[in-house]
Amino acid sequence: MTWETAKAAVDYILSHEKDFPEESVVWDFIGGEPLLEVDLIDKLCDYIKVELYRLNHHWFNSYRFSFTTNGINYHTPKVQELIEKNKEHISIAITIDGTKEKHDLNRIWLTKDGKEYGSYDDVARNIPLWLSQFPQGGTKVTISSADIPYIKDSVLHLYSMGIKEVNINVVFENVWKPEDDVKFEDQLIQLADVIIDGEYYKTHACSFFNDQIGRPLDEIEDNRNWCGAGKMLAVDSTGNFYPCNRFTQFSLRTKEAITIGNITTGINKNLLRSFLTLDRTTQSPQKCIDCEVASGCAWCQGENYDSAETDTIYQRSTAICKMHKARVRANNYYWNKLYRILEQEKEEELC
Ligand code: SF4
Repeated sequence: MTWETAKAAVDYILSHEKDFPEESVVWDFIGGEPLLEVDLIDKLCDYIKVELYRLNHHWFNSYRFSFTTNGINYHTPKVQELIEKNKEHISIAITIDGTKEKHDLNRIWLTKDGKEYGSYDDVARNIPLWLSQFPQGGTKVTISSADIPYIKDSVLHLYSMGIKEVNINVVFENVWKPEDDVKFEDQLIQLADVIIDGEYYKTHACSFFNDQIGRPLDEIEDNRNWCGAGKMLAVDSTGNFYPCNRFTQFSLRTKEAITIGNITTGINKNLLRSFLTLDRTTQSPQKCIDCEVASGCAWCQGENYDSAETDTIYQRSTAICKMHKARVRANNYYWNKLYRILEQEKEEELC
C-alpha cells in the first residue's frame, strides 16, 4: 500500500464520522506480515493521532492500533519505537503455533536459493520480550488435519513459554479426514486431564474449553450472525473496500472478490445490504437450526461464500460439523471433571 492510498482511506473514514458512530475504533493492521511495513504504519499511526486531534473527532483517545504478527521483526528498533510511542493504545498478538514440530509444519521460510526451513526459532526468541511488554498477550493457534496430533503438547508448550491465553480453533475449510474427529477428541481429553490435574485452569486459558458451548439455540433469541462481516471495513493495498478481508481476491479460492466501494467513491451502502441482513437462521441448513449442540459452532462468512455452489453468502458451510461435536464431547468431559473437583473442594472447606 502506498502512503497516498493509506492516507486516503483514513481521510475517508475520519471525514464520514456519522457513518461510523461507534464509540471507539480499532485500526487493525493485518497482512501478510504487517511489520514488514513498519515505516508506513508508523507514519500512518502518527497521522491518525494528529487528525483525530485536529478534527476534534469522537475517537480521540478512544482508539487502538492492533497487530497480528509472525513476530520475526518484533525486536527490531523500528518496531520497538512504534510500540514505545503508542504503548497506551497498542495491542500486538504474535502467532506461534505450539511446539517447534507443530509450528514448523506450516510456517516456513523460503530462501532465495529455494531452501525451506521452519520459523519457530526466529519467533520463539522474541516471545520473552513480547511478554515483558504485553504480559497478558495471547496467541492464536489454527488447527488443520495434520496438526491434530500436536494439540495437547502445543498448548502446554505455549503455557511453558509464559503465554497464559491460547486462542485456538479448527479451520473452517473442508480439510477433515474420516477419523479426525476421534483423534481431535482424544487430544482434547488428554489436554483436559493435564489442565485440571496440573491446576492450569486457575491461571491459564485455552479457548477450546468453554462451558457455554454445546447447547441448542433458540431460533428467535439466538439468531445473530457469527461474525462482523459487513459491520467492519477492510481496505486492500489498492484502496478497495471490503466487508471483511476474507472477501479480498487473495483470500478466496474460487470466487470473485466482493468489494463495497473504494477510497475514491466511498462505501456503496447498497452493496452492503445483503451483509447487514445476515443472521443465523437465514443461512443455516435445517440440521443446524435443530441441532442439540449448536452453541459455539462457528462459521466464517467468507468461507461460506467461497464454498457455496452459487455466488451467495447465504449458504452456511458445515465442514466443521463433526469437529464441533467432538469438541462438545471433550468439553462435557472437561467440565464434569472440573466441577466435581470444585464441588468437592467447596464441601471440604465447609466441613
Ligand atoms: S454444523 Fe453440525 S454441529 Fe454445527 S450447528 Fe450445524 S449440525 Fe450442529
